[in-house]
Amino acid sequence: MKQMEDKILKEGVVLPGDILKVGSFLNQNIDTQLLNQMGQEIARLFEAENPTKILTIEASGIAIAAAAGLAMGVPVLFAKKHITSNVDGDVYSTVVHSFTHNADYNVVVSKDYLRAEDRVLLVDDFLANGKALEGLMDLCDQAGATLVGVAIAIEKCFTGAGDKFRAQGVRLESLAAIESMSENEIVFRS
Ligand code: 5GP
Repeated sequence: MKQMEDKILKEGVVLPGDILKVGSFLNQNIDTQLLNQMGQEIARLFEAENPTKILTIEASGIAIAAAAGLAMGVPVLFAKKHITSNVDGDVYSTVVHSFTHNADYNVVVSKDYLRAEDRVLLVDDFLANGKALEGLMDLCDQAGATLVGVAIAIEKCFTGAGDKFRAQGVRLESLAAIESMSENEIVFRS
């Protein structure tokens, strides 16, 4: 998505540890016009899959998921992160290793909101090593729901995680796919 790539080139900052900082338009201060375009693009890509639910993980996936949900008229569910391993109530739960915080989180969704009849589109802001996605897929499996696809705002292709999911038959689309990045240069997959 050209608008997304342009914004990354203009405002993204590459930090040590292969972190791309996008706080000026996505992770803290949100460019709502771009967010709306992202939602429209995700809808264009996945509408034909007829999702009944969009599932993301708190916190930074929520805005993008909501924009996509609004564009498709589909409810949005977000998995909650608890640092403790206590599981409360009637929930599906899985453990996710956080790329940015280098910590394990217990991630939960209420069984009331994720059902076997759901066709689920997963949405997240970044794809790095794929741990967040694996956790969300595990929650879907536990519910017996059908995974119809994955929409990622920014894929870091150089980790190989996205292509691994694709090779497994997952329909994974990213709005911006970064082939390589350094302090001086960000190269997108063509
Ligand atoms: P993964 O589980 O795929 O290793 O990492 C995905 C999660 O880590 C995303 O939900 C995102 O919040 C965070 N993340 C991974 N890489 C980056 C990055 O380069 N920049 C930012 N801001 N977040 C990232």
